[in-house]
Amino acid sequence: MASRVPVQSELPLLDVVIVGAGFGGLCMAIKLREAGIENFLILEKDTEVGGTWRDNNYPGCACDVQSHMYSYSFAPKADWSKRYAPWDEIQQYILDTTEKYGLRPFIRFRQEVNSAHFDKDCGEWTVGTATGEFYRCKHFVLASGPLHVPAIPNIPGLDKFKGKVFHSARWDHDYDLTNKKVVSIGTGGSAIQYVPEIAPKVDKLYVFQRTPAWVIPRDERRYLGIEKKLFERFPVLRKLHRTRLYWTNEARVWPVFNPMLARTLQQLPKAFIRLQVKDPETARKLTPDYTIGCKRVLISNKYYPTFNRPNVELVTEGIQEIREHSIVTKDGVERPADCIILGTGFVVDPRIYMKDFPLTGLPGHELQRDWKDGAESYLGVTTSGYPNLYQLVGPNSGLGHNSIIFMIEAQADYIVQCIQTLRKKGADYLNLKQEVQRKFNEEVQKAIQGTVWTTGCTSWYQQDDGKNVAIWPWSTWRYWLRTRKVNESEYQWVTCHKKASKPLPEGQKTAAASA
Ligand code: NAP
Repeated sequence: MASRVPVQSELPLLDVVIVGAGFGGLCMAIKLREAGIENFLILEKDTEVGGTWRDNNYPGCACDVQSHMYSYSFAPKADWSKRYAPWDEIQQYILDTTEKYGLRPFIRFRQEVNSAHFDKDCGEWTVGTATGEFYRCKHFVLASGPLHVPAIPNIPGLDKFKGKVFHSARWDHDYDLTNKKVVSIGTGGSAIQYVPEIAPKVDKLYVFQRTPAWVIPRDERRYLGIEKKLFERFPVLRKLHRTRLYWTNEARVWPVFNPMLARTLQQLPKAFIRLQVKDPETARKLTPDYTIGCKRVLISNKYYPTFNRPNVELVTEGIQEIREHSIVTKDGVERPADCIILGTGFVVDPRIYMKDFPLTGLPGHELQRDWKDGAESYLGVTTSGYPNLYQLVGPNSGLGHNSIIFMIEAQADYIVQCIQTLRKKGADYLNLKQEVQRKFNEEVQKAIQGTVWTTGCTSWYQQDDGKNVAIWPWSTWRYWLRTRKVNESEYQWVTCHKKASKPLPEGQKTAAASA
């Protein structure tokens, strides 16, 4: 049944609506509360917090950024078990942080946002959800994450397959892989983590590779009990450790700007493959022919040795079709299969930054249309034509070399500043100047020229036309510097002539209280 769109003034007015209760949305909420802004809600489509770390729980799932870096600077955890924590420890950290900062009353679960419209007359957003509810707010924050809609490959016959099929981000833990013939498609960050875990269980594992990944060794060390105690007792030691990790990761940005250096360094992972894979032909097939860093560099000590197992076969011929109980490659070879696992990544067309719903800003601005040739914003946060709209991990603010949590914190601080500056000025909305956005994107695209990302490979960093709309092409400390202080001259600060007709009703002072 179609829901009635309420007259805007019938709805309580929130200061902020945040979409998504993952690392980004929760960080935003914490920063708002710190700034004394309590009249906000988080709309979450699922039934639990965690985002990526709720959805990705396949065997072997872990973060490839060190846990002491891949956590909020303001919510340290002294007792991370390993250098690179597994997904369940990260998800527990997210759950604990949600409780610690009292965020649950601010979250509305099962609220998938499906529309958002800005009204320039009162400077307010109306946000609709799939359950037919509407929310009205001054500021609207998209923290919905770039990689989250599973990409299902268009392989002939996939829909006719009679066995089990699931995507790595929708792992079916009730399905027992023991002694099954398993086809795994894709060799990205997810597949290289679950392939070594399932290989010992299954009867046969066919790993279908389209493009090999560069995989480098992983520091598997666990933290000793004494280290955890010292981190707990002397926070300065933990901070020093985090600082060292930060700068070690930052150093990895240099080969990005110097493809020659990258090609020299890649002799090490090449040797790593030769050392770890016994069969020279398999080792050859696993060795990428593009410069390291062009696609995301992966880390694992277990992936390459998996191909020494007699029950594992690397298949590099293209897939021709899938039949009811088998998969056929272009050379005509048919392999029997009980189960197909899609490690095929996530949808990365313009929807990477804008989910599939209409979002309109100032007259003439519809985000899906404005971004049809590629998403563009300013610092990955604000977009000209869309007042009081903000994004976390928006265009060109993704990273390949350090922790995205660092970027998220800088972005959330910047957004709080925008809200506070608007209040200070007594204005209703801020709108990024088009010229600022244009210049920034020219600067970004210029910086990307000549980097390792332009040396010839395909990845979700680049669109089909080669434009990289995903990555921040500098060191992260430069991002921090640029977002530290809002430059007021970069925005128009607008006061509406026609104000909202109805004030916030009594008893609705805070969003949490109105639950
Ligand atoms: P991904 O990196 O996009 O990899 C998808 C894989 O599927 C690629 O190997 C791709 O081959 C292949 N593929 C896609 N469509 C195919 C088709 N039709 N036929 C055959 N092969 C196909 O996806 P992901 O592994 O899920 O990882 C997503 C992102 O999350 C990546 O950036 C990854 O590094 C990151 N990640 C991070 C962590 C972490 O610890 N932080 C963990 C896991 C993943 P092509 O390369 O030829 O396109």
